[in-house]
Amino acid sequence: MENKKQDTASALKDIISHAKEYGFVFPSSEIYDGLQAVYDYGQNGVELKNNLKTVWYKAMTMLNDNVVGLDASIFMHPLTWKASGHVDSFNDPMIDNKDSKKRYRADTLLEERAAQLEDEGKEAEAKALLQKMAKCLDAGDLEGVRQIIIDENIKCPVSNTANWTEVRQFNLMFSTQVGAVSEDASLIYLRPETAQGIFVNFLNVQKTGRMKVPFGIAQIGKAFRNEIVARNFIFRMREFEQMEMQFFVRPGTEMEWYAKWKETRMKFHLALGIPATSLKFHDHDKLAHYANAAVDIEYKFPFGFKEMEGIHSRTDFDLKAHQDLSRKKQQYFDPEINENYIPYVVETSVGADRLFLAILCNAYTEETVGEGEQEKQRVFLNFHPALAPVKVAVLPLVKKDGLAEKAQEITNSIKFAFNTTYDDGGAIGKRYTRQDLIGTPYCVVVDYQTMEDNTVTVRDRNTMTQERISIADLKEKIGYAVSMERIFEKLLS
Ligand code: ATP
Repeated sequence: MENKKQDTASALKDIISHAKEYGFVFPSSEIYDGLQAVYDYGQNGVELKNNLKTVWYKAMTMLNDNVVGLDASIFMHPLTWKASGHVDSFNDPMIDNKDSKKRYRADTLLEERAAQLEDEGKEAEAKALLQKMAKCLDAGDLEGVRQIIIDENIKCPVSNTANWTEVRQFNLMFSTQVGAVSEDASLIYLRPETAQGIFVNFLNVQKTGRMKVPFGIAQIGKAFRNEIVARNFIFRMREFEQMEMQFFVRPGTEMEWYAKWKETRMKFHLALGIPATSLKFHDHDKLAHYANAAVDIEYKFPFGFKEMEGIHSRTDFDLKAHQDLSRKKQQYFDPEINENYIPYVVETSVGADRLFLAILCNAYTEETVGEGEQEKQRVFLNFHPALAPVKVAVLPLVKKDGLAEKAQEITNSIKFAFNTTYDDGGAIGKRYTRQDLIGTPYCVVVDYQTMEDNTVTVRDRNTMTQERISIADLKEKIGYAVSMERIFEKLLS
């Protein structure tokens, strides 16, 4: 049996159409031709995404005694974003091609050029190019960035010309007005990251939860960025969801914790079933203004290795900035050393949507089954059973002779334990295929033997083999296989 994974750009197209056809992801407001870089999750997508969020949240808060949750609001006092640096520097450099009128991120154009040089074996040139760009960006020298684009003879892929505008900074925050009367209304932002909701609640949680440093606060929530170029499906969206954890530590111990969280987070992705060959660490060449160490966990998407999660040692930058601007002390008294200090922070930040895309890409499997005339292509989604949107489908072999009623009875007896669906429409082979396409790990078939001895067959999605088991054992056996505990065990091993 040949089991093949595509690596080409066509793989992304196949995944996008699969996601749409089988109820995972739809373009937003599609009847109006969609809204660029905004997507909706369908009936299967929402289950998968909720499972990912649950497994992340539980892995953070249940497996770590010193990590607790939070659900902060999207709107925050506008000064929050002044303190965090987002008002002044959450910018991307953009450039337009005058002929095609297409807009690009100037840094991305240069990064793509560096990647191209690397592919040609010109590593030193690639590195020098990136360093030159970083130097200009650090110095705010946008004309310098433009000059590098011109010198490298980078052309717009649409017009194929190098007729570029100047480079301008573009702030990625969405803003809106709050207040009923326009004169009194004030400008507020839709949060571009969830982290600040955690920082401003640091003392609330620490005091009310009697938390002792080191401790962490984990949160899942929407974030909004007016991305200049949004592409690659749900990889880069304007409205997306982040799963962030800020871990507050004693100053001086941050590198230890950074190393620990780096390893823990990599283990998490492996435990979800992503192979090590599709994951890698990528140290940041250029550190953000708030960080003293930063690394990305990259996943091998069909369009190359790209960031899925960031792990950052953020020092005391955020809490200090909030203390300075709010004039409210953000200090912690450490009874072990009898000292007050502003804790340092190690952050782990993963996009729920990017993780979703990685899991979907990783699961998407095409294989050839059968031989000779019987040979055919099969597509299935190889999700970890605990992540699959539907865990089990109960299928009566035929509708007559009481088999349908029996199958429904079984469905009712297990549907509160895990996500179960009942399907009696069409040939059994077609029904298996329907489940394979959404990644259901198990199909339970009710046949004539069931009516005699209360056993059913359980078909495994990946191997397509069947095992006969007693109905009485169904809940426990399937329950065991589809439980998130199977993922947690790997995390703790
Ligand atoms: P990128 O360099 O790709 O723009 P970033 O470094 O700005 O990402 P962070 O600010 O570190 O990203 O955000 C943490 C995580 O949030 C990212 O690793 C990613 O998974 C997710 N994320 C960021 N921007 C987007 C987006 N526009 N759409 C979907 N997910 C996003």
